[in-house]
Amino acid sequence: MNPVQYLRAGDAGQALAQLSQGARFIAGGTNLLDLMKEYVMRPATLVDINNLPLGDITSTENDGLLLGATARNADTAYHPLVRERYPLLTAAILAGASPQIRNMASNGGNLLQRTRCYYFYDVTTPCNKRQPGSGCSAIGGLTRQHAILGASDQCIAVHPSDMCVALAALEAVVHVRSARGERQIPFADFHRLPDDRPELDATLAPDELITHIVLPPASQFAAHSYYLKLRDRASYAFALVSVAAMLDIGDDGTVREARIALGGVAHKPWRVPAAEALLVGLPAGDESFGRAADSLLAGAQGQGQNDFKIPLARRAVVRALKLAAAGTYDNTGSERDGSD
Ligand SMILES: Cc1cc2nc3c(=O)[nH]c(=O)nc-3n(C[C@H](O)[C@H](O)[C@H](O)COP(=O)(O)OP(=O)(O)OC[C@H]3O[C@@H](n4cnc5c(N)ncnc54)[C@H](O)[C@@H]3O)c2cc1C
Ligand code: SF4
Repeated sequence: MNPVQYLRAGDAGQALAQLSQGARFIAGGTNLLDLMKEYVMRPATLVDINNLPLGDITSTENDGLLLGATARNADTAYHPLVRERYPLLTAAILAGASPQIRNMASNGGNLLQRTRCYYFYDVTTPCNKRQPGSGCSAIGGLTRQHAILGASDQCIAVHPSDMCVALAALEAVVHVRSARGERQIPFADFHRLPDDRPELDATLAPDELITHIVLPPASQFAAHSYYLKLRDRASYAFALVSVAAMLDIGDDGTVREARIALGGVAHKPWRVPAAEALLVGLPAGDESFGRAADSLLAGAQGQGQNDFKIPLARRAVVRALKLAAAGTYDNTGSERDGSD
């Protein structure tokens, strides 16, 4: 048994001071506690950050939105301003986990949830992410859920979040704080590819606290956005492939701007701006959507058991874009505590 010290931080300075001594933050605990129970992560001290004033969701001056780091995933998804301005985000959050987990899970914790690679959770197997230099059991092993893009010979894991796929398409900005001050990280730079440091999921420094996430205004996309998640079961399963699709379509039916982010395929939400640019000025339709999908998936490589993800992802991109073009609909369910 590992003894663990539990502290409740009263302010951010106190929380950061503990972090510098090797403690770990706990918010909803829905990922960290599972990892501790499996001995994958063994922090000696947990600092509860739920009393910090980081739970608000407020409008910014330019009609964007600020999402507090400790605001719950469910409160974020059902917030009236999120539903009105960012229906894509509502749909992505509600596609994940279960109502109970979303009620506990925080926005900051969602960004830092760890991969669901089976071997990462099994401490009897080599895993470079869990123990750098030990090897990667997934390469040559079970790979159904693994990456088709951006993998390295050190790690082929994928980032499991649904929320993060929408945040990538929305070009969110992550605000963080440490004893050195505050800084902002564009979402595209927040998560990283494994390269030769698969133990690092994100560019957040070990002494930094996520304080909030800012969504820039995106009203041009509100009428045409869609989150499509494909998985082994209809609910309560991580994505094999997911797509966040956003289109700004002019009165003449041509695309003015497009954003496409893929989940379940790489170590981070996958975007290729050049693929999105291919759609601009063209009619919103199958032919251009197919070309964008091909560009987005250029270089995709399966690991054997997950080869099916490549054609699946292509079809998913085209379908998500078609559904976005047809118009955003309320796919959030009407009841807050409804089924997942
Ligand atoms: C059974 C199950 C099914 C799930 N299915 C899905 C799914 O389909 N889709 C999906 O997207 N997710 C899914 N999840 C994951 C869930 O969304 C995450 O567990 C949750 O978002 C993590 O948030 P948390 O607040 O509980 O994080 P915690 O477990 O409290 O923390 C996670 C990590 O983040 C760090 N951290 C937390 N807040 C901060 C902060 N403000 N600053 C710096 N570090 C911080 C912690 O130190 C820890 O390392 C599932 C989880 C479970 C258990
Ligand atoms: S894919 Fe990554 S997380 Fe999975 S076993 Fe290999 S190194 Fe570990």
